[in-house]
Amino acid sequence: MPESPYPMIEIEAALAIVEREVRPLPAIRLAFAEAMGHVLAEDIYAAEPMPPFPAAAVDGFAVIAADGPGRRRIVGDQMAGYVAKLRVEPGTAARVTTGAPVPAGADTMIMVEQTEERDGQVDIRPGDIQAGANIRPVGQDINQGQLVLSQGTVLGPPELGLLGTVGQAEVAVYRRPTVAVMSTGDEIVEPHHTPQPGQIRDANRFTLMGVVRDAGAVPLDLGIIRDDVTSVQETIERGLAQADVLLTSGGVSMGELDLVKPYLASRGAIHFGRVNTKPGKPVTFATVDGKLCFAMPGFPVSALVSFEIFVRPALLKMAGHRHFYRPREQAVLAHDVGHTAARTEFQRVVLKRRADGRLLASTTGAQGSGRLLSMVGANGLIVLPHGQADFQAGTVVEAVILGPVEIETA
Ligand code: AMP
Ligand code: MG
Repeated sequence: MPESPYPMIEIEAALAIVEREVRPLPAIRLAFAEAMGHVLAEDIYAAEPMPPFPAAAVDGFAVIAADGPGRRRIVGDQMAGYVAKLRVEPGTAARVTTGAPVPAGADTMIMVEQTEERDGQVDIRPGDIQAGANIRPVGQDINQGQLVLSQGTVLGPPELGLLGTVGQAEVAVYRRPTVAVMSTGDEIVEPHHTPQPGQIRDANRFTLMGVVRDAGAVPLDLGIIRDDVTSVQETIERGLAQADVLLTSGGVSMGELDLVKPYLASRGAIHFGRVNTKPGKPVTFATVDGKLCFAMPGFPVSALVSFEIFVRPALLKMAGHRHFYRPREQAVLAHDVGHTAARTEFQRVVLKRRADGRLLASTTGAQGSGRLLSMVGANGLIVLPHGQADFQAGTVVEAVILGPVEIETA
């Protein structure tokens, strides 16, 4: 049997190589409202305090606390969004709406529910009246000059709201990687084609473009490459020219027409070409002209799991994320799981949270590398380490959390 020229390395070593080679992309400036999901590349400070003026926290009457309960003459209205030239003197009150500046002279807000209004006067019910109550002082939420968002923060809904609050029209964020995705193989045809004898429809470009998008990166569809030197060469060059990352599937095993690895080797450096994992053994990582190239095996599950393990963290790191690995948690096996001790294996499971708080892992069925149905509905991958065979029901293993976990109700 011919030997692969690439040494077999363990997954931890492979991930360390990817981390070493991958850097965040340069920052770009975006209109803040367009920056959802991006990672901030600068610190953001508040130029003004929030609230910028003492603001009413309730609808009601601004009064002087020392006057106590009882009747007041209403001197006018102060609506949110305006500054009415009102002054609250002893014995008077101003009608004020939530969010309006509290008029000069007043030091407390009485909720409208605690009052009764009649003939230009208001009766304040007996009760505890405290100076400062129901007024949000200047800077209660944000101090002037305060650091509100620091570099490395992932911009989600609250962060976008804060950028709006501080008036940050544009923000510096890390650019998202563009990823050129292609399938390889003479047998692969477009899904809208009727496969001729010996042909199958493409699955990998669609799963891979999907997970690229899911990782916050931008896929570029380079189609299907034939297993001939010229097409492999031309399409890879096009991908390298157009994208930050090249993502191929198929053509990385030991077959005669597995042309991707040799071409990448001729153009740049292959950092690894074999990893001791199942699925995904021939997964390949190279750099060419400063661009990253990830070559996934052709079997659809192998392609997807290899992406999950090696490519997703790289895309997140390029986009400026500091946490680029999925969370992992201990899970209890719901049943016996067969496993060969030779390789680290990632099996697809449905994880559920039991009443006792532990995760329970149930298989998605036959785990063949071609059976994409084993990924459908999977929200976790259990990690079965090498050096240990066959696991019994009840054994605790590590699980990569891929999606939301349902909580079992008793
Ligand atoms: P390869 O890695 O090229 O040797 O392919 C391994 C297996 O995956 C073969 O059975 C291929 O037919 C299949 N395969 C390769 N690429 C795709 C694809 N894009 N979609 C579905 N199956 C594929
Ligand atoms: Mg092939």
